[in-house]
Amino acid sequence: SKSRGRKGYQFFTRAMNDAAAERLKIDQQLRGALERGEFSLVYQPIMHTRGRTLKGMEVLIRWTNPELGRISPMDFIPIAEQIGAITDLGNWVLQEACAQLQSWQRQYNRPLLMSINVSPRQFHDGSIVPKVKTVLTQLGLKPTSVQLEVTEGLLINASDRVLSDLDTLKLAGVHLALDDFGTGYSSLSYLRHLPFDVLKVDQSFVHEIARKSQDEAMVGAMVRMGHSLGMTVVAEGVETPEQAYSLEALRVDDLQGFYFSQPLCARDFERRFLAGITI
Ligand code: C2E
Ligand code: CA
Ligand code: CA
Ligand code: CA
Repeated sequence: SKSRGRKGYQFFTRAMNDAAAERLKIDQQLRGALERGEFSLVYQPIMHTRGRTLKGMEVLIRWTNPELGRISPMDFIPIAEQIGAITDLGNWVLQEACAQLQSWQRQYNRPLLMSINVSPRQFHDGSIVPKVKTVLTQLGLKPTSVQLEVTEGLLINASDRVLSDLDTLKLAGVHLALDDFGTGYSSLSYLRHLPFDVLKVDQSFVHEIARKSQDEAMVGAMVRMGHSLGMTVVAEGVETPEQAYSLEALRVDDLQGFYFSQPLCARDFERRFLAGITI
């Protein structure tokens, strides 16, 4: 009926206004949040499938704001990209995560891989190559101990500049990972030409893998393709031992997900995965 339709419309506009208001609040609070020290980092282990030993970790950003509480990176990263705050934020993540890596490598005297998410904006504004070089030099880190994760979005209509930045990083020895693989609008053809070392199979394929034969077939195909291109294949979002087992049978190289651990603050990560003390 007409009245129901109107009610539906009102509900819809209210929801939209709420979303817009929420965005505006995030936008306002984001400005200055870095200076106010509101961000922190957590680390999630990446395990070798064989033997289930620690290979390294993915660093993930967290934001707690006095007015808004805890805000998910899925909600604030896109806004940080829009308002141009992502470069400072991304540089901060890079600096902090690499300093943490250096401290852990020294303290535990073992090679570890730090995997860092990089927004396409950091490539487009040309800040990524100089920043990575400076940080690695300052900290005396091997480029091969750092991995940058980018999504397929970076590659759509990628400029020559983006492509040459990827090559520069690769030549320097930095690992490059293609994140959320299988979810974008990617054409497989660019994989042949781009210097990726690692394919991260998106968690949506992993969640049903022990139950859905299509997902098993998809992951199997991604693994064969990745391996035939000389890439390492990682599955993310591994939540159960059954999933880990299925992925192992499909020859996935590395595993990441809640089955091994939630992302942890540096102190907890260290205690649980580096110092060998169970928490
Ligand atoms: P992502 O890069 O795909 O990161 C994986 C996300 O999956 C993380 O969410 C992680 O906590 C979550 N996750 C890990 N294991 C499991 C699991 O077993 N099951 C499920 N259901 N989820 C799992 P988070 O930390 O909320 O991050 C969301 C997204 O925000 C990231 O997705 C990434 O795109 C972005 N992000 C996070 N930190 C950064 C950052 O420092 N820079 C940039 N540019 N983006 C970031
Ligand atoms: Ca990632
Ligand atoms: Ca991902
Ligand atoms: Ca994602």
